[in-house]
Amino acid sequence: MLFGRKQKNPIKIADKGVVEWKYAACGYCSTGCSIEVGLNTDGKPVASRGVADADVNRGKLCLKGIFEHELFDSAGRGTEPKIREQWHQPWQSTSWDTALDKTHDEILRIQEKYGRDSFAIISTGQMLTEEFYTLGKLTRGLIGTNNYDGNTTLCMASAVSGYKRSFGSDGPPGCYEDFEHTDCLIAWGSNLPEQHPIIYWRMKEAQEKKNFTLIVVDPRVTMLAQNAHMHLPITPGTDVVLMNALMHVIIDEDLQDMAYIEANTNGFDELKAEVAKYDPVTAAKICGIDEDRIRHVARIFAKSESAMQIWTMGINQSTHGSDGVVGINNLALITGNIGKPGGTSLSITGQCNAMGTREWSSCSGLPNHRYLESAEDREEIAKFWNIDPEFFPKKRGMFQTDIYHAIESGQIKGLWLIATNPLTSLPNTARIRKAMEKLEFCVVQDCYEDTESAQYAHVYLPAGTWAEKEGVMTNTERRISVVKPLATPPGQAKPDLWVFNRMAERFNKNGNVTFPEKAPDIFLEMAEISKGRLADISGMDHDLIEKQRGIQWPYTEQQLKKGELPPQGGKRLYTEDATFRYPDGKAKLIPLPFIDNNEVPNEKFPIWLNTGRLIEHWHGRTKTGKIGDNNKYSPIPFIEINPDLAHELGIQRGEYVRLVSRRSDAVVMAQPTHRVAKNMVFLPFHFFDCANRLTLGLLDPHSRQPAYKQSAVRIERMEDQQEAARLSMEMRKF
Ligand code: SF4
Repeated sequence: MLFGRKQKNPIKIADKGVVEWKYAACGYCSTGCSIEVGLNTDGKPVASRGVADADVNRGKLCLKGIFEHELFDSAGRGTEPKIREQWHQPWQSTSWDTALDKTHDEILRIQEKYGRDSFAIISTGQMLTEEFYTLGKLTRGLIGTNNYDGNTTLCMASAVSGYKRSFGSDGPPGCYEDFEHTDCLIAWGSNLPEQHPIIYWRMKEAQEKKNFTLIVVDPRVTMLAQNAHMHLPITPGTDVVLMNALMHVIIDEDLQDMAYIEANTNGFDELKAEVAKYDPVTAAKICGIDEDRIRHVARIFAKSESAMQIWTMGINQSTHGSDGVVGINNLALITGNIGKPGGTSLSITGQCNAMGTREWSSCSGLPNHRYLESAEDREEIAKFWNIDPEFFPKKRGMFQTDIYHAIESGQIKGLWLIATNPLTSLPNTARIRKAMEKLEFCVVQDCYEDTESAQYAHVYLPAGTWAEKEGVMTNTERRISVVKPLATPPGQAKPDLWVFNRMAERFNKNGNVTFPEKAPDIFLEMAEISKGRLADISGMDHDLIEKQRGIQWPYTEQQLKKGELPPQGGKRLYTEDATFRYPDGKAKLIPLPFIDNNEVPNEKFPIWLNTGRLIEHWHGRTKTGKIGDNNKYSPIPFIEINPDLAHELGIQRGEYVRLVSRRSDAVVMAQPTHRVAKNMVFLPFHFFDCANRLTLGLLDPHSRQPAYKQSAVRIERMEDQQEAARLSMEMRKF
């Protein structure tokens, strides 16, 4: 029988000449999609596609993943080590030995002159886990500075801090499959369709089957809010007030799960006393959500058989970020919504391996969620690494955000930046620029040599990127996936692991500490010290992880031997047979008094500035500014501005305007839209010398994460639009 397809002009897909497909996990966001990269007859990566039998993405990829094969030979890749005496002088090409010797000698010189902690190291969430572990061993075990952190402080620190305070340990307890079981989902400050498109697809598929209630709390009418049953346009920075009010209603109407609370938590009476102060009438005046809506949401959430909450930067990037996470956990705990299918509090993490650095980098302590503050943990790791336990500091040092203040005040004199670009990503760019100028020595290790921060470096170390390297990454739902090399770094560039091992040789002259060369061997070393921990990975190795297309931790060797778990590993934490990580096995309910310390609009700066990411771009655009069509979709710094406000200010669609904050100014294009209220503008943060010229970035007291989303600005019309366009163009570096 003829079906007409042949007669009707059949679809043709461009033939890119792929002769072999190679497996990896995506190197952008924390969703953890499995990807295959197609190589042509010359071995050149020419195509990307999603892996159908991977549980996370089931064949799908988003815009960034689809173009990921173009990363390898994108513009600006570093191909040789470089050196110079002063940061403002021209670069000289040099050998690896000279660059590494110079770095080693400068670290020692600064430490000897100013003290061990006067040299700081800041890494990333973009490397592979074995690289994080090796860098942690080098930093904690040999170099010995306590001022060591990752750029994950800018995105996930509040989630980490909140989990630790509530449950006694970091570690998201839920998984994507929970969308398929839940009856109610509250998304706090999370715009899944743009930030985590494939998690959104998983959520949407589940919602179409189960039609659970979706409630979105966000000051802006995001894409997710447009899909919600209820959108709560909260006043920025007041989430904790809304959380307290929801708990007030739940307890007032006796909707809490008393059996769960008594069996699994401490602190209910103290929490009850605090939330009693947040009746919906009082709370509505602070958080901007009307009292009826507060009662309605509280009842729906508490009466649902299973209810889950997700959140992203809308909660984390606040002076109440850690409290916001604790508030989410409080809500989950008093309704018995932890550790059961569809009942969880799931932080949607940021970078592809933000979780890997949380688990293994030793930034906030020692490997696998061990604490520097614990003598037992120090002893255990010192013995394993063959070093003196007294070499370890007894509490963690500065966070990234405090390190820059310490450079400013002269406590820190040297800096090693690894795969991070603080000049674009930290708030208050002018302040960071001044701090960088003060460094006696700065080494930048990055796959790109043209990052803004490299302007201030004395040594540049060219690194490999993503699938030029071998190792694993952990995604939002604790799923470990493997990345295998499918290309080689350009020129003389080397994998980060190679750089750390060569640096370790220089600090490890007596050879007391071992540094395996190969990622699969390092993974086995990590698996050994994971035994009995919450993040137990002793049942895994690289081959099994690849075979299963990712395995969730915990997955122990005993479970593997007995065949107890499904092939994907442990779906949830804190289920009936697992206790929380405090010594008595119970979670803490923590009262959260609200103190309003945000920068708020006033007469001179009357508009809220909200910043965030767009689907086309990744963070500071070092990659997406150059790859595929990503930049073409969104090349211009712009603000979303309410049409009524634009009309009042005499601003037309497409005109350039000047945004002015207490820190500085930026020139951006106006795009009127009802997605933002009349007292707010939204500005994507990707562009260099743009959003973060304006942001204040007050720090959360627990997590030290900056409040990127709560600053105040005014908007000025610009008469000379040609000059305005020129100024704006300067921010579009690529
Ligand atoms: Fe990569 Fe995230 Fe897109 Fe998946 S959703 S393809 S992990 S950027």
